[in-house]
Amino acid sequence: MSSNTMKHPETLALHAGWRSDPATTSVAVPIYQTTSYQFNSAEHAANLFALKEFGNIYTRIMNPTTDVLEKRLAALEGGAAALAVASGQAASAMAVQNLARAGDNIVSSTDLYGGTWNLFANTLRDQGIEVRFVDPADPEAFARATDDRTRAYYAETLPNPKLVVFPIAEVAAIGRKFGVPLIMDNTAAPLLVRPFDHGAAVVMYSTTKYIGGHGTSIGGIVIDGGNFDWEAHAARQPALNTPDPSYHGAVWTQAVKGIGPVAYIIKLRVTLLRDLGAAMSPFNAFQFLQGIETLPLRMREHSRNARAVADYLAGHKAVARVIHPAHHTGIGAERTAKYLPNGQGGLCGMELKGGLAAGRAFIDALKLLYHVANIGDARSLAIHPASTTHSQLTEEEQHATGVTPGYVRLSIGIEHIDDILADISQALDAAAAAS
Ligand code: PLP
Repeated sequence: MSSNTMKHPETLALHAGWRSDPATTSVAVPIYQTTSYQFNSAEHAANLFALKEFGNIYTRIMNPTTDVLEKRLAALEGGAAALAVASGQAASAMAVQNLARAGDNIVSSTDLYGGTWNLFANTLRDQGIEVRFVDPADPEAFARATDDRTRAYYAETLPNPKLVVFPIAEVAAIGRKFGVPLIMDNTAAPLLVRPFDHGAAVVMYSTTKYIGGHGTSIGGIVIDGGNFDWEAHAARQPALNTPDPSYHGAVWTQAVKGIGPVAYIIKLRVTLLRDLGAAMSPFNAFQFLQGIETLPLRMREHSRNARAVADYLAGHKAVARVIHPAHHTGIGAERTAKYLPNGQGGLCGMELKGGLAAGRAFIDALKLLYHVANIGDARSLAIHPASTTHSQLTEEEQHATGVTPGYVRLSIGIEHIDDILADISQALDAAAAAS
């Protein structure tokens, strides 16, 4: 199929990376549930291991079903290549570990998913990688926190609970001056924002959320924009520019030159994924491919319904504040206008007047919305972060991430809007009674 007929996300979501199965002509992508692949000869095997030839070796490192998912998401995102992994957490950790080693640091936005915060503040620190947290309200804070050992910047496109879009272009431009790539977690905004269009170098997803869309499978993916000149910043990026003892001395920017601007993602696959083993199962890759087929439709419905919920909440007496990209004022409103012209996503927050007691009463009264830790399901979901996802954070950390006692996060699904509003309305009555 020519690239002329494959420009739009609705088409790419159904076709990119696949036409039919070379072995069986199957139109649906088969689930290649195999661990291993028979080598043609001793020479063939040697070439594969030496990266002289590309081909399947072992499903911990690559798989034909997963390969289609990687190609499809790279195409949708406008990137060069991708690597699927076992979870969003694995994707965040490995995206950073691919560049930063013990003694190095990264600069991260404070506005993060609680799990990423824990990973950065504790586990990466224990591995010797310092994460410097800065407030994304001031993009220049990234420059101020940068030193000679800074290897990457990290942020979420549409972080909850604040739901203020990250200044991608502003921070990416600062990073490019230093030779520091911006890694964007785009989990909450697939198709709505394409971070590479704004200068990000790496995009990662928890595919568990909107990409899968049906709440069945945990997964993650890292996408290489192919738009960062690692070689021009050799001193800044030693992981890609000095001999790698874990792969017989390969210098990644040189080793893969012949196949395109994919040094970052190839290194990630053949060293970190090989060594840490957080591989995506082929069955889950199939589930994500199914999800992606309807992603453009779902994102439109999620955005439409969440906007209707936000507008409804804004007029409700039990609600002190509505947090939604279309309800911001000032800089938040400017960021929405700049980065979200294709819809505002399915997330919406509210600050209940009754604080902690009201938050808990609201959750307990829900009948249609599920009370779960997930987001991005086709079903509507709700959670009270102060008593769950953010409860491990110190009060100061909770404050930095924007979680307050009366805050409730809603992930609005694609049910009929009247049914969603009816459930929220009766739960708000319960919240008001409890406060
Ligand atoms: N990033 C964001 C924005 C998330 O919301 C989540 C999960 O909630 C993750 C990363 C982690 O993904 P996973 O749960 O697939 O490991």
